[in-house]
Amino acid sequence: MMSDTTSEDHYEFSDQFDDDFDLQDPGNFDSDNNYFNIVNMEHVKASERRTVAEIADLFSIMVPMSTILLMAYFWNREKLSEEYIEGRALAKVGLTDADLEVQRKSGQKVQCSPRTCPICCDTYTRGFQLACKHTACIKCYERYLGEKLSSGDLLSTRCLGQHDCRLVATLDDFRELSKDLESGYLEKTAASYLQSHSSSFKACPGPGCTSIIELTSSLAMLDLDQYMVECSCGKRFCLGCKNDWHLPIKCDLASRWMNINGERMKNNLWLDKNTKPCPKCEARIERTEGCNHMKCRTCHFEYCWMCMQEWSAHNGMFFKCVHFQPSAEAKHSGRATSARLKHYSIRFDSNIIDSRRDVNVRDLTFSSQQVLNKAVPTLSYTRRILAWTYVLLFYVTGSNQKTILETSVSDIESHAETLAELLAGDEQAAAPCLELSGYLETRVENLITHALETNWKLDRNSLTYTPS
Ligand SMILES: [Zn+2]
Ligand SMILES: [Zn+2]
Ligand SMILES: [Zn+2]
Ligand SMILES: [Zn+2]
Ligand SMILES: [Zn+2]
Ligand SMILES: [Zn+2]
Repeated sequence: MMSDTTSEDHYEFSDQFDDDFDLQDPGNFDSDNNYFNIVNMEHVKASERRTVAEIADLFSIMVPMSTILLMAYFWNREKLSEEYIEGRALAKVGLTDADLEVQRKSGQKVQCSPRTCPICCDTYTRGFQLACKHTACIKCYERYLGEKLSSGDLLSTRCLGQHDCRLVATLDDFRELSKDLESGYLEKTAASYLQSHSSSFKACPGPGCTSIIELTSSLAMLDLDQYMVECSCGKRFCLGCKNDWHLPIKCDLASRWMNINGERMKNNLWLDKNTKPCPKCEARIERTEGCNHMKCRTCHFEYCWMCMQEWSAHNGMFFKCVHFQPSAEAKHSGRATSARLKHYSIRFDSNIIDSRRDVNVRDLTFSSQQVLNKAVPTLSYTRRILAWTYVLLFYVTGSNQKTILETSVSDIESHAETLAELLAGDEQAAAPCLELSGYLETRVENLITHALETNWKLDRNSLTYTPS
């Protein structure tokens, strides 16, 4: 998992996709499906209250006691029911049947003649007592229950009035003491409920977002490491690891990659990603559009931003640009591994940067709204899939499957390039833009399916890579 958040901030991909961004891909779900609902905390609390009420009904116990027992059993109704029937559940929270009867009443504040508090030894006239009627001063109770709330320990809130009394302070007692204590208690029980149901509720990691993705049972049964969702706030994330989405690879490879990237960023290996010297005349060239087809203003040399080779060498095909072939020199000096990492990192970074550029920076001068709504998000989406496909290519060994993937990446790269050039150009050619978008959607969908369905062999070199 990621440990160093600062160095990876760079890879916090912004997710500002158009609202109507609607691609049908395996593992990508829209909200109007049968797999998940976007809900809020009130919905979770309602679900919690139903569970508590059911158990209270089943065993004819009070709702606050039902809450405590459920928390003690991590909200596992079946296990609680089983052990309750066997007479073992109450002991788990230190209570007996007799205590349970006493606990049916809630505690209360009391006014009394001056007496000494058994906890702080001060004299008090305002006290508090649980249903057992053992009294302590109200200040001690408030402080004690406040501390229990902060530590999240709601199962061992004992009577303060008498040291050997077993009674537990429940929601009713918190409520009797103050509104703040009551609402604090409700927050904690809801958090406990949410945590115990983490397979069906996923809190959105979007900044400031309080939405929760509720998975329906059909999805909760699946391996979540290849499912990406989009929250109503626009945040797209992986249900498996809650990181930014990383199709077409699964969580384990994605997090390995993020770990390497963290190191890489720390070592400042390739920081200056948007300016590079022209391979011919060495003039500094800044890349402002999302195209890889570069033309040097000084010497007019045309070349590829990714591989820095003459553009015509691609000849419409990107296979050589996609495929990593270590130079004889790199092989000889034993630097092939780091050259390999560099090859894939540059392609990952460029595509991630472009996927953001396509959404955020592209000036909206293209007159056709249809093109803006379809081609721009498609290009952005394609770039992202390409970025993570390069990660897959980095990790898997040479095989037919890898060659098939490289061929498909090369085809997608070349069409994405054409689309990027059309979008950046002056011709406003709407029809070819839409046609290319449709083509890319299909190709990308096939690539994702292929990548997810293939049983890849991991490359031992990439796995043992350690940054020098
Ligand atoms: Zn006291
Ligand atoms: Zn007591
Ligand atoms: Zn959200
Ligand atoms: Zn994941
Ligand atoms: Zn030049
Ligand atoms: Zn190239």
